[in-house]
Amino acid sequence: MIIDGKKIAAKLREDLKKKIIELKSTFNSVPGLTVILIGEDPASKIYVKNKERFAKEVGINSELIRYPENIEEKVVLDKIKELNQNKKVSGILVQLPLPKHIDKKKVIETILPNKDVDGFHPVNVGNLSSGYESNVPCTPLGCYLLLKQVENNLSGKHAIIIGRSNLNGKPMAQLLLKENCTVTIAHSKTKDLKAECIKADIIVAAVGKPKLVKADWVKKNAIIIDVGINKTDTGIVGDVDFEEVSKVARAITPVPGGVGPMTIACLLSNTLECFKRANS
Ligand code: NAP
Repeated sequence: MIIDGKKIAAKLREDLKKKIIELKSTFNSVPGLTVILIGEDPASKIYVKNKERFAKEVGINSELIRYPENIEEKVVLDKIKELNQNKKVSGILVQLPLPKHIDKKKVIETILPNKDVDGFHPVNVGNLSSGYESNVPCTPLGCYLLLKQVENNLSGKHAIIIGRSNLNGKPMAQLLLKENCTVTIAHSKTKDLKAECIKADIIVAAVGKPKLVKADWVKKNAIIIDVGINKTDTGIVGDVDFEEVSKVARAITPVPGGVGPMTIACLLSNTLECFKRANS
């Protein structure tokens, strides 16, 4: 089974659109998402453009604030503080990476946890790891929703997550622990990655190494979620050798068209959740 992230994300956006129409008639307002983009990074510009496009499509008020690469950190922090107070803004996202002179930690910690649609604020990270309600980082949330499409009951499954970034690996591990999976987190210092992978019912690869996961690393009928986006001479590939692994796996996400489309859909979903909490 190829897990069609594009289709599942489109369905999620369709559902969000309906919910936002309903909420509009109740609250006479709609969720608002403000994105701050600093500099001219081409990939960031594309991400932000897509975020705006899909936000509008589902009925979220989307605003983009752009600053030049050399903007003072204080200007950005002051703008975030202003947005924190603005009732029309349900969610704030500062597009990463940031220029070197701007402290990412300070930026993240200045966003109110309730408006932190990326789920990076330490309060949200802590709530997630304590099993409480929180904003969850969009990519792992998307991976989790894809997994649930394949298998609703994940309890007792052995999952391996390759990669321990704050963005992907760690929050993914928390989501799967919450589902009662037995979770292994692997990283660059893991001794025998193949031996760890072959035991797993679920493999989530969030590494950034083209086709790292091979078919003989994969248990028959395992579910494979490939987060990786790697540019190669032959095009974009994931962290999993899709062609070979798809012959062994029960279900697998393609790259592109798997996890990627879910990330923005989950950002929109997080924005809606922030709006609902602010109005409850
Ligand atoms: P990251 O911060 O660079 O983290 C990579 C992780 O992989 C680290 O924990 C690293 O271990 C581990 N690692 C590196 N080489 C390894 C190896 N040979 N064996 C085992 N583990 C290894 O990356 P990230 O931000 O999480 O992103 C991971 C991938 O996902 C990238 O390709 C990125 O482009 C992609 N991505 C996709 C989406 C999407 O929407 N689909 C969103 C975000 C990111 P150490 O901790 O020991 O260094």
